[in-house]
Amino acid sequence: QTCSDLTKLPKQRVRQWLSSIESVICDADGVLWHFSKALDGSVDTFNQLNTSGRKTFIVSNNSEISRIDMAKKAKDLGFTIEEDSVLTSSYSCANFLLMKKFQKKAFVMGERGIHQELEALGVCSMKVSETLEKPIHEFVADLKLDPDVGAVLVGRDEGFNMAKLVRAGTYLLNPGIMFLGTCLDAAYPIGNNRVMVGAGATLAAMKALTGRKPLILGKPNPWIAAPLLQSGLIKPETTLMVGDTLETDIHFSANCGFQSLMVGTGVNSLKEVHKIIEEGDPKKKVLVPDTYLPSLGHLLEFLC
Ligand code: PLP
Ligand code: CA
Repeated sequence: QTCSDLTKLPKQRVRQWLSSIESVICDADGVLWHFSKALDGSVDTFNQLNTSGRKTFIVSNNSEISRIDMAKKAKDLGFTIEEDSVLTSSYSCANFLLMKKFQKKAFVMGERGIHQELEALGVCSMKVSETLEKPIHEFVADLKLDPDVGAVLVGRDEGFNMAKLVRAGTYLLNPGIMFLGTCLDAAYPIGNNRVMVGAGATLAAMKALTGRKPLILGKPNPWIAAPLLQSGLIKPETTLMVGDTLETDIHFSANCGFQSLMVGTGVNSLKEVHKIIEEGDPKKKVLVPDTYLPSLGHLLEFLC
């Protein structure tokens, strides 16, 4: 198994390969932008993919903002994209509950993006802003549960605390209550020797507390791309997934049967890919991208 470094291949060969690609799915953070700043060359490259007649999409594990707000963010940064070409892990969760004909309430640990997507698809959600006004053992003893809750849905939650953990964990004692998560990204590198906590860290605490495993509905679960795959809007063989994270984007690409391009502007590096190839663990084959470029911007020269 190999990962082709496209900067080392003859340009003509790369151009020829790209001419067979009809749809391109880009991860957001680490590929198109880094928090609120577009990455060098990403806007021009994304827009050129679009004007060259390819279908272009954003598929992000970020659950904090809605598809509408992510499309707005992308447009403000200069990307040519419409809301229906943006898929997020929040939307994936809402779409899953819709498909399950879920009629109960979802107890959400997360930000407004999750609530907005649930509401847009007609799923009732509740958020409890817990403050501990009494000792935790009294809080636990007095805890009242809502009998209408049928799912606990967890994303990155800036208001995460002990009281919420107790409430969510208590709901999950009932095996009839679904346990859903947006993604397993535990941390985001933000440079300067600092880390940002992701949903995966919250989910790890909840897994340890309850002994239950969440169903993850963001990447690498192909379900997040169901609106593109089930409608026939994209064909897996002619779709290229561009990502920065092996466990989410590249694994997702393998699960969907897409071709994959890893860029070095985010979480993982080409060095890590080489290490996986050298180790030769067959279980990790799904983490090896087909191709590599230092950034999405490096693709532009092959498109013009
Ligand atoms: N989830 C949250 C809460 C984030 O803040 C981010 C990145 O900023 C992500 C997920 C990763 O998103 P993506 O899949 O676009 O890299
Ligand atoms: Ca990313």
